[in-house]
Amino acid sequence: MAKRIVVFGSYVTDLTGRASRFPVPGETVLGASFRPGPGGKGSNQAVAAFRAGGDTALVTKLGCDDFGRIARDFYEAEGMATDGLLEDEQHETGAALIMVNEQTGQNMIMVVIGACGCVTEADVEARRALIEQADYLLVQMEINLDALARVIRIAHEAGVCVVLNPAPAQPIADDVLAMVDIVTPNETEAAVLTGVQVTDLASAHSAAQAFLARGVRRVIITLGSQGVYCTDGEREELIGRIPVKAVDTTGAGDAFNGGFVTALSRGMDLFDAARYGNCTGALSVTRPGTAPAMPRRDEIDALYQRTYGG
Ligand code: ADP
Repeated sequence: MAKRIVVFGSYVTDLTGRASRFPVPGETVLGASFRPGPGGKGSNQAVAAFRAGGDTALVTKLGCDDFGRIARDFYEAEGMATDGLLEDEQHETGAALIMVNEQTGQNMIMVVIGACGCVTEADVEARRALIEQADYLLVQMEINLDALARVIRIAHEAGVCVVLNPAPAQPIADDVLAMVDIVTPNETEAAVLTGVQVTDLASAHSAAQAFLARGVRRVIITLGSQGVYCTDGEREELIGRIPVKAVDTTGAGDAFNGGFVTALSRGMDLFDAARYGNCTGALSVTRPGTAPAMPRRDEIDALYQRTYGG
């Protein structure tokens, strides 16, 4: 039977406007284009896992508003289950206001996580059975941290493998981190959480040791275009990036995490699952956007076979 993955995390509507330059404070500039789309780390990672073929349930919290309805429509169109979704009658669906400068490719983002910052104890209890019946729990740090700690504790006590993508980076209590089986920061998040600037194998090793010393059992550090560092505490490996033509690297970490957990759920070991995540991340950067850029199982499998054989 397929192993079950629960992703408990954020949904925000990405509201992306592009212009030839950024406005200065107080100024209005005319934009060239505008596009709304589904975003949020929890949602993106759930879409990545689902498209990679994982048996995936998403728990996120939406407002009772138009953006919440758009999110539901999106999951239905994808064919994803919507029974894990929570609703908030008081708070709006989260939104990310993204301004892209077309000349430089730079962006400025303001995220208001809205309903996802108001996950209550009752919300978590309402999804307790779903969490306890999972084989893998994938979480990020884009919901209120008291709820995150509660979700991790329920999973840990039920023997569910807890995978924490500590993004956006914020301090994590030692007792929470000690319940995490696998942590998957990128190099910036690893630096914030361990104080070690990760630039190569030696510094990745030092950062990983800091996580292991705090009770995490296995550590993955995604290194963007340098690939992925991976250790189970005994063996370590630097998995090289797969050469692709990158057009938009936003959401690469989300793709990696979704692909990685799906591979674990299929029985791959930590290192092969990291290779599978590496393929998922690489494919996602070849197309624009976040959730819509997530690759599907057949293309990930094909790239995995071409790159690693087997
Ligand atoms: P984040 O989006 O959290 O910053 P990273 O930039 O570390 O995450 O990317 C996550 C993973 O996606 C990388 O470890 C790698 O597997 C893949 N990836 C990212 N950028 C590229 C790239 N330019 N070419 C190939 N793979 C990439």
